[in-house]
Amino acid sequence: MADSIDNAQMADQIHREALLSRRKRPLPNRDMATGSSPARCTGCGDAIPPERRQAVPGTALCADCATDHERRARQQRGI
Ligand SMILES: [Zn+2]
Repeated sequence: MADSIDNAQMADQIHREALLSRRKRPLPNRDMATGSSPARCTGCGDAIPPERRQAVPGTALCADCATDHERRARQQRGI
């Protein structure tokens, strides 16, 4: 009886560790390689550096346009 409980606990622990290690893993490599964001800025059409696309996944704006966009959004909110 004790054995089956130990086995159940062990299986539970293995399952939990598998879930944790999956969550700890960074973004899949394919997302890093291709990026979920476009290669070019939708604002000015300039190429978005891969470093920026990695740092800000999903961004469609280059750093300049993003700064400009944020400034305008802040002005609209009256801050
Ligand atoms: Zn731009």
